[in-house]
Amino acid sequence: MEEKIYDMIVIGGGPAGYTAALYAARSGLSVLVLEKLSAGGQMTNTDQIDNYPGFPEGIGGFELGERMQKSALRFGAENQFSEVKSVELSGPVKLVRTRKKEFKARTVVLASGAYPRKTGVEGEDRFQGRGIAYCAACDGMFYKDKTVAVYGGGNSAVEDALLLSRICGKVYLIHRRDALRAAKVYQDALFRSGAELVWNSRVTGFLGEKRLEGVELTDVKTGERKALSLDGLFVSIGRIPDTKLFEGQVEMDEAGYLIADETTRTSLPGVFAAGDVRTKKLRQVITAAADGAMAAWSAEEYLAEG
Ligand code: NAP
Repeated sequence: MEEKIYDMIVIGGGPAGYTAALYAARSGLSVLVLEKLSAGGQMTNTDQIDNYPGFPEGIGGFELGERMQKSALRFGAENQFSEVKSVELSGPVKLVRTRKKEFKARTVVLASGAYPRKTGVEGEDRFQGRGIAYCAACDGMFYKDKTVAVYGGGNSAVEDALLLSRICGKVYLIHRRDALRAAKVYQDALFRSGAELVWNSRVTGFLGEKRLEGVELTDVKTGERKALSLDGLFVSIGRIPDTKLFEGQVEMDEAGYLIADETTRTSLPGVFAAGDVRTKKLRQVITAAADGAMAAWSAEEYLAEG
């Protein structure tokens, strides 16, 4: 029997991947989605998503992921739960290998996402979703009028602190140095916002029983330790794109994001980058879904070009 060549393989089952699959399958393309564990990608770690339109009461990240998966499967997209181990993306027929099987396709959508860098401090996983968060735009509202801190000194950390200062009662920004990496325009806004800066400090411990109640800070200059009481900590110390598999094949920026503009076309013909994995300014469920739609459209255009 001749081996199947799909019109499209999607690597990653988050909002970008499943939206690409929905649009492609609905246009009559044969599509296979390969995902690791469960539909939804990073969303599955979010208890409630309030900023994806159409759900006035909010929706759980896991449920939204499952719904996106069902939408794509309804139009004939296939999916398999298996981790991709290697890819060969340069030829007209692309190869995607999992531990057990090799799949072929004329186009590939890379939608493997990005994950937040963790502090690596003991207890972080236990308190994730119970006082430790990684996305102020997603979870800030849960801390209305509460005392929170943002950890980090880059543009994202300062943006998060600015957003939280409009919602929360008290905001600290904890940074390991005595100067922010963030752009001056953000710094000026931060200094005006009333957020309190905690310089030269690392988070070295998490305090609390069931929920986070505070952090232990260590002064990097004196080694002095002190406790800071908090309702929430937003860790914003950079993100890591999941692109190791594509190294040497698809062009990336210095941080490892796949270089692609709004069309989602990458440096390789027939290969598209959608969602958090691509170079972009705003990484949210809705922008990932928008990329997925665009990737399917661009893939259709590429296939039509022959
Ligand atoms: P980033 O610029 O890499 O900043 C990460 C921050 O976290 C730095 O201040 C860094 O400290 C700190 N950090 C890193 N590892 C740490 C660790 N293990 N422990 C404690 N602190 C640690 O990351 P980002 O803020 O997420 O931004 C990512 C990219 O997106 C950047 O290029 C940024 O300019 C861009 N961005 C742009 C905008 C915008 O233009 N509107 C908004 C957001 C993000 P040090 O400073 O000491 O290294």
